[in-house]
Amino acid sequence: MTTSPAARLFGDHFLARLDSPEQATVLQVRELCRSTLGPEADAVSREDVFAWATFRTLAREGVIATAFPRDYGGSDARQVVRIRIIEELGRVCSTSASMITGTDLSSRAIVAGASETLRHEIVPRLCSGELQAAFALTEPGAGSDVRGLQTSIRRDGDRYIVNGRKKFITRASTADWFAVVGRAEDDPSVFIAVLIPRDAKGFRISAEAGKLGWFGVPISSLEFNAVEVRASHRLGAEGDGFSLAQDALLRARIGHAAMALGRAIGSVEIASRYASERVLSGRREGDHQGVQWMLADMVTQIEASRALLALTADKYDQGAPDVALFASMTKLHATDLCMKVVTEALQLTGGRGYLRDFPLERFFRDAKLNQIGEGASEVHKTVIGRDVMRRAALAERHPCLHDGPLTDY
Ligand SMILES: Cc1cc2nc3c(=O)[nH]c(=O)nc-3n(C[C@H](O)[C@H](O)[C@H](O)COP(=O)(O)OP(=O)(O)OC[C@H]3O[C@@H](n4cnc5c(N)ncnc54)[C@H](O)[C@@H]3O)c2cc1C
Repeated sequence: MTTSPAARLFGDHFLARLDSPEQATVLQVRELCRSTLGPEADAVSREDVFAWATFRTLAREGVIATAFPRDYGGSDARQVVRIRIIEELGRVCSTSASMITGTDLSSRAIVAGASETLRHEIVPRLCSGELQAAFALTEPGAGSDVRGLQTSIRRDGDRYIVNGRKKFITRASTADWFAVVGRAEDDPSVFIAVLIPRDAKGFRISAEAGKLGWFGVPISSLEFNAVEVRASHRLGAEGDGFSLAQDALLRARIGHAAMALGRAIGSVEIASRYASERVLSGRREGDHQGVQWMLADMVTQIEASRALLALTADKYDQGAPDVALFASMTKLHATDLCMKVVTEALQLTGGRGYLRDFPLERFFRDAKLNQIGEGASEVHKTVIGRDVMRRAALAERHPCLHDGPLTDY
């Protein structure tokens, strides 16, 4: 007789809204986390080398393929499904989750912008995990503010010549193709994206840079010295570079929020289990009101954030015009919340939380990057705040206000 797994601490209220094949996909990922990815997560996080076994498992199980259109062998899962998948992965292993968000980031510009021929050549192999891509936007002088971008791209007959440097590029050490965004040399207001193969002459990839967390998905810097790229390897039209980048970042931001929420959920599961076992001053730790209030805040805020994320994913699937704004809100909220929840969960588990063997130590290190990558929290606050100010003056006047300028009050 098989026993069904115990109920989980966090509700499955969003799962019921998916159709049966979609639910089956999420449950398949959940089982994968239970059987393999969860138990192996600690070992994966010990060394910052590309986690091939994790990547191959996710490719074999069709999880990588959820990011790709059906015409190229993918399953083209709706975002409302993908956030559930990424949440499941983030709950146990940031490396696994980032294999999925990183696939969106690195492959999206190819899916959206490559020529039909190039797409047929590359995308099915990206989808199966046979090939990998990297997305190269950030530079030493251009991180949060891409106006500092200096990589130059010059047209020369049927080729482009690329010069410049890129920094912090995930999967650089394993990628076969690099989607690189730069500016037209003769008109810096024109952003161009090109696809560069790993073995291009004049293209140098640095050694991997050591980092705090997110082990298993290393980063490197890139250098382009008069790298020649076939004109047919341009992504989109000249001038599309920025919008292709925004499109990739949009999906990756939603993914970051889902990963962060998954980790926050995992942290509360672990901390509350500890609080239910540990006896302090004659009572279980979790019987102390102060501890219960901490847990109450965590659970309540996580559920609120999941609702915002579900709304955002639905807006993405519907092609809503305000999805980018909602992606900023959900990314800001979920990733800041995750950092807070992981910190408090670690506090609740005392010295054990600080041990290398205990999962919260890893969660704590991994949580920080979600607040920085794909737009730091402050950048999203700026985006959201500017939007409020843009709309405030035009919005319907509050019915409790007198007519006339408010300064007349
Ligand atoms: C592990 C890792 C993987 C990455 N992978 C990739 C990748 O695959 N491809 C890629 O192109 N890039 C990648 N990046 C780069 C990442 O997107 C940038 O690190 C991020 O955009 C921030 O840029 P920056 O590091 O240059 O920080 P900076 O731009 O120097 O910003 C520093 C800090 O300033 C603050 N700040 C920024 N703007 C504002 C503002 N408007 N108002 C108030 N405060 C502000 C924020 O707190 C921010 O964290 C990766 C980075 C890391 C660490």
